[in-house]
Amino acid sequence: MDSETRIVLIGPPGAGKGTQAKKLGDYYSVPHLSAGELLRSEVENETEAGKRAKPYLDQGQLVPVEIVVDIMVKNMFERSEHNGFVVDGFPRNPEQYERLTDYMEENNLSLDCAVDLVIPEEMVYRRLTGRRVCRECGANFHLEFRPPEQEGQCDDCGGELKQRDDDTRETIQERLEVFQNESKPVARKFERDGILAKVDATGDIDEVFEKITTTLEERLA
Ligand code: AMP
Repeated sequence: MDSETRIVLIGPPGAGKGTQAKKLGDYYSVPHLSAGELLRSEVENETEAGKRAKPYLDQGQLVPVEIVVDIMVKNMFERSEHNGFVVDGFPRNPEQYERLTDYMEENNLSLDCAVDLVIPEEMVYRRLTGRRVCRECGANFHLEFRPPEQEGQCDDCGGELKQRDDDTRETIQERLEVFQNESKPVARKFERDGILAKVDATGDIDEVFEKITTTLEERLA
């Protein structure tokens, strides 16, 4: 597969979009771009966009479209090197979808596949409340499914592990509602475009990865 491969991962919070997008990026040798991570880094760096985005992230709401579209388009298409990617978490509502589609049409670009990771809600809570993330390198762990060797410490770089501010039960519920109301229609639009691939995301990390790559190989052949 060449370096122009363009894949987006959609699906509810806790479906494993970030984990799988990172693995897929390595596998296909293209950058992995996470909308949530890019926004959190704007917040940490206290940029203008970050200051505006912070209250939305804290409440599990989608940040305003003009902030996220600018950041994502810049990272997806306006880098100097090749412009293949695996994106997780964008587009996340119909307006973002329209803005992305317009940009791609104007520039003669297209996506290869939108992978929809499907997972029941009860599993979302279990996955997200146990998730721990390294402050230094961003690696993901899980108290139950992937505990670090030393409690509170990253296996990869020794950094401190923390719980994401939005991984509380209350915010997870809000994020799930946002997903149902705003992101589900995006999957239907990709389906209409003929590029949606639904993948069952309930297995462990390697099983789900295997299912995604098998599906992509069939689609992109
Ligand atoms: P995630 O890391 O994908 O779970 O995203 C965490 C939070 O970042 C979300 O709850 C939103 O507040 C914000 N966010 C991520 N992606 C988007 C997007 N495409 N549009 C608007 N807000 C987003």
